[in-house]
Amino acid sequence: SADVEIVESLLREVPDFPQPGVLFRDVAGVLASGEGLAAATRAMADLASELGEFDLVAGMEARGFLFGAPLATHLGTGFIPVRKAGKLPPPVLAATYELEYGTATLELRDGTIPAGARVLVLDDILATGGTASAGADLVERAGGTVVGLAFLFEIPGLGGRDRLAGREVRSLIV
Ligand code: 5GP
Repeated sequence: SADVEIVESLLREVPDFPQPGVLFRDVAGVLASGEGLAAATRAMADLASELGEFDLVAGMEARGFLFGAPLATHLGTGFIPVRKAGKLPPPVLAATYELEYGTATLELRDGTIPAGARVLVLDDILATGGTASAGADLVERAGGTVVGLAFLFEIPGLGGRDRLAGREVRSLIV
């Protein structure tokens, strides 16, 4: 669609960031453009509509917030921030997952998702799927039902789809 083309035209590739050999997909240009952010929001709404109805959008810190909250506003749903460890006051649920080197922990404020609420989990990039998988697990442990996961951009070949096997996954651009 025209919206997806606008988003694609504003994505940049940055070699050797954050480490040598890594090709970083930079979404700053999408965020910095009024047309880009609006197009991304409409396109994500379109993509998410394939997953049926949902009551909440959950986004992972930090870029999941930047695209997730506008989407929630656009659709009239609430937004659930899934944060890096140590940022949220108790009570929190925590999920630790493996990175290439070491581990990372995400947290979700317990009590913020009504029992059985349908939740879309959103992030900017799907790479290995560790972040999204932890986010989806937290939503479920909090009592929500994950209708699916949506991403602006999917980096294929890193196992993200495998890590999210059994879940509905949609990416705007692969
Ligand atoms: P994963 O857990 O799937 O390996 O990595 C996805 C997470 O790392 C997302 O939260 C995403 O924001 C971040 N990430 C990984 N690679 C990139 C990248 O190339 N560009 C951006 N913007 N974020 C990335």
